[in-house]
Amino acid sequence: MEDLNDLKQKLAYYEQREKELVRNEDRMRMAIEATRLGTWDYEPLTGALNWSPECKSIYGLPDGATVDMAAFDEHIYPADKAFVNSQIQDAMDPAGDGKYNISYRITRFDDDSVRWIKAQGKVYFNANKQAERFIGTVLDITDSKETAEKIARSEKLFRSIASNIPEALIVVIDHDHRFITVEGDLMEKLGFDGKNYEGRHAAEVLATDRYEATRKLYDRVLSGEKFSEERAYQNNGVYMVHFIPLKGDDNSIYAGLIIAMDITEAKQSEEKNAKLAAIIDSSDDAIISKTLEGIVTSWNNSAQRTFGYTAEEMIGQHILKLIPEDRHEEEPKILAQLRSGQRVEHFETKRMTKDKHLLDISLTISPVRDKKGNIIGLSKIARDITEKKQEELRKNDFIAMVSHELKTPLTSMLSYVQVLLSKASKEGDPFTINALKRTEMQAKKMSAMIHDFLSLARLEEGKISLNKEYFDLDALIKEVAGDAQMFTALHDIEINNCTPTDIYADRDKIGQVLMNLLSNAVKYSPSGGKISIGCKRVGTSIKVYVLDHGIGISLEDQKQLFDRFYRVKNEKLRTVSGFGIGLYLVAEILRYHDSKIEIESKVDVGSEFYFYMEAATGPLT
Ligand code: ADP
Repeated sequence: MEDLNDLKQKLAYYEQREKELVRNEDRMRMAIEATRLGTWDYEPLTGALNWSPECKSIYGLPDGATVDMAAFDEHIYPADKAFVNSQIQDAMDPAGDGKYNISYRITRFDDDSVRWIKAQGKVYFNANKQAERFIGTVLDITDSKETAEKIARSEKLFRSIASNIPEALIVVIDHDHRFITVEGDLMEKLGFDGKNYEGRHAAEVLATDRYEATRKLYDRVLSGEKFSEERAYQNNGVYMVHFIPLKGDDNSIYAGLIIAMDITEAKQSEEKNAKLAAIIDSSDDAIISKTLEGIVTSWNNSAQRTFGYTAEEMIGQHILKLIPEDRHEEEPKILAQLRSGQRVEHFETKRMTKDKHLLDISLTISPVRDKKGNIIGLSKIARDITEKKQEELRKNDFIAMVSHELKTPLTSMLSYVQVLLSKASKEGDPFTINALKRTEMQAKKMSAMIHDFLSLARLEEGKISLNKEYFDLDALIKEVAGDAQMFTALHDIEINNCTPTDIYADRDKIGQVLMNLLSNAVKYSPSGGKISIGCKRVGTSIKVYVLDHGIGISLEDQKQLFDRFYRVKNEKLRTVSGFGIGLYLVAEILRYHDSKIEIESKVDVGSEFYFYMEAATGPLT
């Protein structure tokens, strides 16, 4: 009985064990199914091959399908076939450990699509060292393989971005101060010799003192601080270094990103700008820059002193705020001149201060260009010349007064001389006649000079007025040429092609123009020769010209010739007297007549000054 009980107990125990085993196997199968792991079982001695349903599904086979080694071999991706077979050979080599662990591609049975699989297995040998069983698992790893490739691609992308950012060094460090990445074209400049730094410790790569100086910064960035520092590297430039903690999804810091950028040039131009700004601020002249539209973009201290507005009040405002209403049309004219590439120099005008005072201003304006040469703005230097203008006015007043006072006695002197001359001519004393002729000539020269001074003073005050009448230009030319001939024995003044023609103009002033041109022709042809004054009809106007064969005028000097008080600096001319107002008056008088003086001249060949007058269609023609 006892035996029976014993047996029953044992049976119950085995039943229990078997159930457990079945449960275990179920669990195992479920686990394998859950991981989508396929299993296979190959008996090399019989050639039998068994695949689990999961394995068949990986290969795109239905559950009931049977497979053999030939089918297996046929579905290895062609390029991987040799590799797989050699791995199988190795595993089955009795001298080895029988282990098998590879990843390769297969082509599925159903749709020929290519998948990546990972196969792991083991070969069991019998007593005769023959491979008896080869079992293992397969797993479709296509998705993770693709993810890995994606990661590799993005790492490659990161590296190529890092190494292609111009003038930069990109470093990524981990918590132990080991380099994850060192890239960028500044590597060499910053002491990295271009080797692979991945995984190396900064202390081992950098010089001791450099690491000591840097480690605190590494610690700061790795503790989560984001900051930037300007650092100089061994006299090798100035760098802006950005320290950026890299955070994962859970906000924990997994690395420190360090970006160094070369700012040496920017730094230098910053210094240059600072110096320039200091110069501009200490200048006595108002220096203003503005856009092409006239919006003020900079305003120095002197601009504030001169015009009364602060920089805050003016920057962003239109420059018209300073320009008196009756001069608003000046701006577009200046702009047009600048656009054609010319500077505007010493342009005298008036501007208004904040408290509505009018200032006399001399403006020099230059275009501001970008690197390509396009004009992007204007810079103006404005000098307050109110004082100077006042001074000039006082001088003018003085000149006008003196000239006026001299004119009356000189005129009566001249008439007495002329009376004496006509008397002497009758009595026939050659010495007296000659002396009186010379006196008359000198008095006439003086008179012409005084005439010029008076005209200048009147012009300056804006008081010049034209006394227009109809007169014969030809007669005037003859008269003036005759007077001019009196002043010189060295020159021969000839009149060319002038026929009686009436013009409507100020006879006295046109006479002054012709006299100035002729006396210049005489003065500036020191070796004498022919001087021509002539006329040429061009349509309804008459070109009047004065031509000499004298010293000529360089192109450079020609630009300034008609400026007040301008005289050419020339050793040869040291003995020739003059005030530099003759041509200024010529230009101004002609301007009042809506005409213009023009010049053609060549050094050492001669000069031609000419202008046009309209022939009158009035009463006398
Ligand atoms: P001034 O003769 O009193 O110096 P102007 O205004 O008449 O002043 O002339 C200005 C300058 O132009 C002169 O100083 C001289 O150098 C130059 N100039 C004028 N006319 C001639 C000329 N015909 N030939 C050469 N140079 C001339």
